[in-house]
Amino acid sequence: MMGTLIIGGGIIGLLTARELALSGESVTVIDRSELGTESSWAGGGILSPLYPWRYSEAVNQLARWSQQHYKQIAQELINEGCTDPEWTQSGLLVLDPEDMPVAAQWAEQYGMECQQVDRVKAVELEPALGAESKQSLWFPDIAQIRNPRLVKSLREYCQQSGIGLVTGAEVTRLLQNKGIISGVQAADREYHAEKVVITSGAWSANLLREVGCDVDINPVRGQMLMYQGDPGQVQHMVLKNSHYVIPRRDGRILVGSTLENVGFDKATTDEGKAELIAFAEGLMPCFKTLPIERHWSGLRPGSPQGIPYISGIPGIEGLYLNSGHYRNGVILGPASARLMADIILKREPIMDPSLYGLERVKKQRNL
Ligand SMILES: Cc1cc2nc3c(=O)[nH]c(=O)nc-3n(C[C@H](O)[C@H](O)[C@H](O)COP(=O)(O)OP(=O)(O)OC[C@H]3O[C@@H](n4cnc5c(N)ncnc54)[C@H](O)[C@@H]3O)c2cc1C
Repeated sequence: MMGTLIIGGGIIGLLTARELALSGESVTVIDRSELGTESSWAGGGILSPLYPWRYSEAVNQLARWSQQHYKQIAQELINEGCTDPEWTQSGLLVLDPEDMPVAAQWAEQYGMECQQVDRVKAVELEPALGAESKQSLWFPDIAQIRNPRLVKSLREYCQQSGIGLVTGAEVTRLLQNKGIISGVQAADREYHAEKVVITSGAWSANLLREVGCDVDINPVRGQMLMYQGDPGQVQHMVLKNSHYVIPRRDGRILVGSTLENVGFDKATTDEGKAELIAFAEGLMPCFKTLPIERHWSGLRPGSPQGIPYISGIPGIEGLYLNSGHYRNGVILGPASARLMADIILKREPIMDPSLYGLERVKKQRNL
């Protein structure tokens, strides 16, 4: 009998496994494919919600906790001999936010370093800019992480920390006995465990539906382009009208992303590509000549207001859910994993868990 079984080895599952293992728990992660090859690989790695002042405090308090710990987590992984996830404080320039006063007030309230910059100053900061802008906001402290390397690094960490890893095994059923979880059925085998945590990203609702639990987690497709630039050609992350560029250390530049409700269809499309190219070329003239190296898509686990569920499942002892991080799973991941571990281990939680319970779904529906 395993201690805790985690279903889904994306960033949320791997960080949750790490948190539990750090507290001495016996943990196994089970995934139907290779670890970290879905949304957590496909994402951009901006370590802040886009336009955070438009999100609820439930999202922002997870983001703040993670921001305070990300650099240290990255360093700990490096110290353990794992791949460098390239935590980089590249700063975020937000061009012409339409709600500038709200943003400035939010930054002041939460002590987030933020400067209002005019067009001249914006180009001084980011010489690659071509787009016209009037008033922008510069957040020098916002960092990024190279998410494909982060999941690789976490996988290596799990391997060397004695965390069990089972891949190529799709969980098709949750096993329970008189309201107490006893394991899962996957690939014609049963895996028995005292606790089971669902971290299956956009697919999380499927398993829960079968045990009579209905959660609003739905796939939202995002397409992304990667250009091959030179190191330093673009220096900062830049956000405009919900699209963004993210320069990596090696000169590659990500351009994202589309927001599409097309179910579990992970195809890339010509329309998506055209949307991203038009944005990139309008923002920075360099994109007119840089080669496109790759075009991909991922399925975000969409949830109401983007607030993740971090909770036990009422009525089934030992079953937990940590999912629904929508556009922000990379930045919310560390706090979300810690809070999940606090709940499972019945420790003093890092923040009020009631904001992430399943009850809020019912409350919203009853309104
Ligand atoms: C284009 C794009 C850009 C993004 N940019 C950012 C960003 O800049 N910053 C940010 O913070 N976030 C960003 N995100 C969001 C972020 O990537 C997600 O919120 C996060 O990756 C969700 O992680 P997860 O572990 O829940 O899901 P996933 O990474 O999708 O992992 C779920 C895992 O569960 C497994 N699984 C599913 N069903 C089963 C089953 N039945 N049995 C076994 N295994 C199963 C899957 O194989 C998968 O490995 C972006 C996402 C996209 C798509």
